[in-house]
Amino acid sequence: MSLVLSPPAVGQSRAVLRPVPAGNSAVCPTCGALVKFAARVRKQQVIANVYVDGRWARVEHFHPTCYTEAGEPHGAVIENPPPERRR
Ligand SMILES: [Zn+2]
Repeated sequence: MSLVLSPPAVGQSRAVLRPVPAGNSAVCPTCGALVKFAARVRKQQVIANVYVDGRWARVEHFHPTCYTEAGEPHGAVIENPPPERRR
């Protein structure tokens, strides 16, 4: 094993904040409830890409509050701008 100073590896768990899409049916691993779309409230969810041993393993969807309560298990939430931006 060599010591290399490098930016964070690609194969690392990370979490982003995204709006909940309509028809979303993911279950929050923290509270076991659905991360539900709500038409009137623009709900956000935390999507975590989970890597095990540097390999992508799965995606987990959390309620933002649950993710914080769980102690940010996959790192601090990165707030990305939405992919499409309209003016
Ligand atoms: Zn939850």
